[in-house]
Amino acid sequence: MSDSETPAIRLERLSKTYREGERQHRVLADVDLEIPRGATIAIRGRSGSGKSTLLNLVGGIDVPDSGTVIVNGTNITALDERRRTLFRREHLGFVYQAFNLIPTLSVADNVRLVLELNGVPDSAASERIDSLLEAVGLGDRHASLPDVLSGGEQQRVAIARALAHRPSVVLADEPTGNLDDDAAESVLALLDRLVRQHGGTMLIATHSQRVAEFCDTTLFLSGGHIERAPGKT
Ligand code: ADP
Ligand code: MG
Repeated sequence: MSDSETPAIRLERLSKTYREGERQHRVLADVDLEIPRGATIAIRGRSGSGKSTLLNLVGGIDVPDSGTVIVNGTNITALDERRRTLFRREHLGFVYQAFNLIPTLSVADNVRLVLELNGVPDSAASERIDSLLEAVGLGDRHASLPDVLSGGEQQRVAIARALAHRPSVVLADEPTGNLDDDAAESVLALLDRLVRQHGGTMLIATHSQRVAEFCDTTLFLSGGHIERAPGKT
């Protein structure tokens, strides 16, 4: 299979059960899924349906009970923790509802950290930070600390950070969950534009219909299974 034909993400019989004392909750039950490169996919489903669990498994933050996660042709389930961390750092970008910026670092340094972890040399890093912050509309906020920014602005920094190392797969967990409608709209448009610009693949966990409209395909999680939404594919 040539590189361009390798799916961005492939899940094979993926299962995850949480146990709390006597209680067992099977969140994912033998899920099979293939996501082509360049696709943007909305994962919808009720609260507790397993959207975050699925994203954490795809991102190698959590491990399945059984089944396989293959990202860009690499079986990340088979990697030890150290290799999985390295793989994640290089290939994946994450955006969370809670922004998760480091409060003691400036906007520019929050983005720089990811580039340092990926071994991008200082001069190249500075150029990339300039162009990214410009792209997210924060070209004049390099030195600001995160907590002086609005929620929408903080999420735009988080997007710059998530994309700084040019990950091929972006995982966004309720990225607009903490934002008002206007900020949500601009964050979504930005995420969509920047990810498509470099041919990236994106999975967005969301309960918002509006978010799903930005995506090529909507998948529904329910009862541990994934169904493709009818209509728009
Ligand atoms: P969603 O993101 O769709 O709201 P989650 O993936 O966060 O759903 O959670 C799916 C289910 O798994 C929920 O019932 C949740 O309570 C449970 N769950 C998630 N993480 C844990 C955990 N670490 N321990 C026990 N149960 C968990
Ligand atoms: Mg969730």
